[in-house]
Amino acid sequence: MDVFEAIRESGITARQAAERCGIKINRGGMAVCPFHKDKNPSMKIDSRYYCFGCGEKGDAIDFVAKFYGLGKKEAAVQIASDFGISFEDKRGRKPPPKRKRRLSPEQRFERAEKKCFRVLSDYLCRLREWKERYAPHTAEEEWNPLFCEALEKKEYIEYLLDILLYAPLSERVELVAGYGEEVLRIERRLEQCAAGTEGSIGKDNGQDGESGTGITAGNMV
Ligand SMILES: [Zn+2]
Repeated sequence: MDVFEAIRESGITARQAAERCGIKINRGGMAVCPFHKDKNPSMKIDSRYYCFGCGEKGDAIDFVAKFYGLGKKEAAVQIASDFGISFEDKRGRKPPPKRKRRLSPEQRFERAEKKCFRVLSDYLCRLREWKERYAPHTAEEEWNPLFCEALEKKEYIEYLLDILLYAPLSERVELVAGYGEEVLRIERRLEQCAAGTEGSIGKDNGQDGESGTGITAGNMV
C-alpha cells in the first residue's frame, strides 16, 4: 500500500492535519484561513476543508501541502510520519534482498555428514524392525523381501555408521563424498517406507538395482 492509500485508509481528516499544523478550530468547525488574510474564521474544516473567503479546498494532504509549500507526495509522507502511519515506498528504498549465507567447505561437510548420519540411522532402525517383524516362523515359509533386505544390509549400514562415529576426519570425508548418491537413494527408500509402500519395492527387481551399492530389497529376490 503506497502512502496515499495508507493515509486514505487511516481516515486522517483535514481537521486533524490542520490542528497538527497549529490551526485553531472553533466549536463550529471553523478556523481562520491560513491561506489568505483572514480576520474571522472563514474556513470550514472537517474531513475536508473549504474556505468561504478564498475558495481554497481539499483534504488532509492538500492542506499540509499548501500550508508547508510541499508537493502532494511529500505532504503525504509528512502526515504518515506525524501520525505514525506505515506504508510501502514503491520507489526504491526496498529492504535489500537477503544475501544467501555462504557456507564454508567445513560447514558444507558438516551438513552433509549430519544428513548422512541421520539417513543411515533411520535406515538402520527400519532394518532392525524388519528383521524382527518379518522373520519367518517356519522353515517352509517364503522369506519376506523386507526381512531379506534387513539381513543383507544391517551389518553394512552399521559399518558405515561406525565410520561416521569413530573414524578420523579423512575417512569420514571419503565416506560422505563417496556415498552421497547412495544416501540419497536410502532417503528415497525411507520416504517410500513412510508412505507405506515398502512392500512393493520387492517386485521391481533390477529397476533400481545398481549391483554392489543397491539398497533395495529388489536386488535380493
Ligand atoms: Zn481562505
